[in-house]
Order: sequence, then C-alpha cells, then structure tokens
Amino acid sequence: MIKEGFIIRSNAGLYDVYVDGDIYASKPRGKFRKELKHPLVGDNVVIEVLNEKEGFIIDIKDRINYLIRPKVANIEQLVIIASLVDPVCETSLINRFMMLVSTANIKPILFISKCDREDFPNDKYLEIERVFKNIGYTVLKYSSKTNENIDQIKMLLKGHKTVFTGQTGVGKSKLINSLLGINQKVGETSKALGRGRHTTRLVEYIPYDEGWIADTPGFSLIDFDIIRISKEELSYEFPGFKKYFGKCKFRGCLHDSEPNCKVKEAVENNEIEKVQYETYLGILNELKNRKERY
Ligand code: ZN
Repeated sequence: MIKEGFIIRSNAGLYDVYVDGDIYASKPRGKFRKELKHPLVGDNVVIEVLNEKEGFIIDIKDRINYLIRPKVANIEQLVIIASLVDPVCETSLINRFMMLVSTANIKPILFISKCDREDFPNDKYLEIERVFKNIGYTVLKYSSKTNENIDQIKMLLKGHKTVFTGQTGVGKSKLINSLLGINQKVGETSKALGRGRHTTRLVEYIPYDEGWIADTPGFSLIDFDIIRISKEELSYEFPGFKKYFGKCKFRGCLHDSEPNCKVKEAVENNEIEKVQYETYLGILNELKNRKERY
C-alpha cells in the first residue's frame, strides 16, 4: 500500500513518517543513497507500507525551503526567540538572522523574552518591533513568568508547523515545555513517542494543537551556515529588494558600490530602512569573504 506523510524525526537511518495519526518507521529505498538525496525531517514523502509500523520511503517531494544546520525541510514558520536582557542578543545579530531566514524563503516570527524584567529595554524593543512590522513580520514580547502575550503565541502556533530557534539562556526550552504542558494529552503522546528527546541534538516534530512544533537544540544566531545562498540570490531575495530587480543600471547589481543603483536610491528616500540595508551589506560581505565550501 502506498501512503503520503511527512517525516517527524530521524534516528540512525530510520525515519518516522507521520500519516493521518499513524507513524511508520521507514527506511529510504536504496536509490536515495546513491542519488545523495537524503530525506530530512520535515520532508513530505511517499511510503510503501510494509506493515502497521514499518514502511519504505520511495519518494521525496520537492522542498519549499530547508535549513542546512540544523537539517530540517519545509519550514512553515520559524520562531526566533531572542532576549534583550541576560543574555543580551545584539539587535544587529537579530536583524541579520531574521533576514537570512527570510532570504531562504522561510517566514520568521520574532519573540522577545523576559519582558517582565525591570531592566527590560522597552524602547529598544519597540524599535525592533517597528522595523520588522514595517516589512510585514510578526514581533511579540512575552514572559514565561507572567505569561504576558502567551495567548497570542498559542494563536500563532495553532494548526501550523513551527520550528523554534534561540540561543542558550533566552528561555526557549521553558516556553516549549510550558506550551507542551498546557495540553496534557499532547505532552503524554510526545513522551510516549519520544526516544529520549532531551539527549538528542536532532530536530523532531511534536504534535501541538492541530499543528506541530520542533525545537532546534545547539543552534546559534551567529551560525551562518544555516542556508546555502549566493550573492546574486541574496541581492534578489533579500526582503524588500525584489521590486527593484532589473531596474539598477548594471545587470547583476549587488547594490553595493555600483553607481545608479535603485536599491541605494530607495534607502536614501527612506523606502528601505537604513538598518535593513546595513544588514544586507553585512551579509553580502560575509558571502564575499567566505570560502566556497559547497
Ligand atoms: Zn542595485
């Protein structure tokens, strides 16, 4: 029997494929190994069912997006949790990460944690919120202590596939645990399904309120190798830049030192935020300086 589902976790060459409430531990058929096309968590796949618990992956559907590190595909939305106090995530790093992610065709959502703290810099928060809301992204401050905005967070997750990222100490695990604890039934299910998920560094989807959530352990905002992108792709895919494509004087304009650049004009006319353009130049320089490893 042939069925379609998606990979919720992988473990030592076995992939758990979720199909309408059932999970099939599946091995990829030999040809994938030869083609060097490895299944990723999040992949939509076609399986050949062997019995009620096992199957073979016979096809991998095209990916809408994927991260290289951690390895996960078809991310519907990526929640980035950052803290402005203890630890302080630099605004420039948050900007850079948000923009890298959206350049990879992934919808970012930004949560700023610990807003209950007395030393929470609300002005700084409001500025971050303003910049991202301007380009259409959701930004939310919250507190695991006082549960401020927790209902809005739940609404954003309901029915979606969400991947969480955040540096150590920002309160990511706390939020995820509290979300999972809310629905005892879901918590129990994931415990029953889990094979010591706290010990693994792999991504794993856990059912949550008609959707799924996945944590990404050991992941940092500084990590540049999360996506694979060229300078040219960046100059086109960078949020807000698409509408200027082909309008600059030079073909293949990287909107950097080239004269008569429409993107630079837009920055001067405040059509593009200066901070956004600076983030772009930062990423562009990283791409120029990196060694081609792929
Ligand atoms: Zn240009």
